[in-house]
Amino acid sequence: MEIFVIISKNRPPVYYRRSFGGIRLNIFKYSSDNKRYHTLYYYNMQKFGKRVYKAPINAGFTCPNIDGAKGTGGCIYCDGGSGYFTDSDQIPITEQLAHQIALIHEKHPDAGINAYFQSYSNTYAPVEVLRERFEPVLQFKDVVALSIATRADCLSDEILDYLSQLSARTELSVELGLQTVHDKTAEIIGRGHTYKEFLEGYYLLKEKGIRTTVHIINGLPGENEEMMLRTAYQLGRLRPDGLKIQLLHVIKGTKLNQMYNNGEYIPMSMSDYVSATVKQLEYIPPETVIERITGDGDKSKLTAPMWSKNKIAVLGAIDKLQVQTDSYQGKYYTDK
Ligand code: SF4
Repeated sequence: MEIFVIISKNRPPVYYRRSFGGIRLNIFKYSSDNKRYHTLYYYNMQKFGKRVYKAPINAGFTCPNIDGAKGTGGCIYCDGGSGYFTDSDQIPITEQLAHQIALIHEKHPDAGINAYFQSYSNTYAPVEVLRERFEPVLQFKDVVALSIATRADCLSDEILDYLSQLSARTELSVELGLQTVHDKTAEIIGRGHTYKEFLEGYYLLKEKGIRTTVHIINGLPGENEEMMLRTAYQLGRLRPDGLKIQLLHVIKGTKLNQMYNNGEYIPMSMSDYVSATVKQLEYIPPETVIERITGDGDKSKLTAPMWSKNKIAVLGAIDKLQVQTDSYQGKYYTDK
């Protein structure tokens, strides 16, 4: 598909695509469906020529914020390190993966698979343990990519070397949970590491040329829109390969749920979330892939906000506000 661009004075560039159906207009360069942000769908189609779905795996790791190394309670919203869709860690990894692939292929028989080590901190163990758990998934013929979720303070030199080797063998993404650049908020949520520590880990990954995706959360306790935009602005300047934007969910059984019940925490409204997210995208470089733009939690455990259950409505509201405000990813991004 051929892309050509028309630039007018004082207007954003407009991208046209010449395809079999004629000429289509796109306001945003990295889009084939009029999205104004760089979707994972677009990235995967360019990279693999097909849809790729994540197969979540619980590999039985823990987290320094849980086992006592940094803390014992975990982050106030933690319900298993985001492992909402994984199978039990009692099931062998290869069985979990085979099960997840079968579920995906039921609906999308030709899809590629991204083996996603999701639960807890998946580099928090000796490198030999990592090898034992990661290597078998690469033997699956449908696995075209590997994603490893972890914390920036769980990256030893040995582990970085191994990740670098893995990165040379497959499409590897290391996903770092940052959530916010504000250390004051990090203390409130009990994240257990500072922004400075995050930066150290992030730069080590970048030095090794490892694809890195960063997670941020909107609606953290004590944060206003200005603080959320600051997080996006600083992150944009780091030029991550991928970004996941998440809404803070109140999940049953967490400390955040107690705070919510006591009236100490009020979740974001949908309009505030949509507005903040649209503005955040303006500070993110167009090349960064937006791998998630709204929450995706376990609905049966959700206490609030209930509007987040309707993911399609949230995505639609983001698209609509971008059009209404002539907004698009990278609108205000500058590397100066
Ligand atoms: S870093 Fe992740 S796994 Fe660890 S306590 Fe926080 S949310 Fe849970």
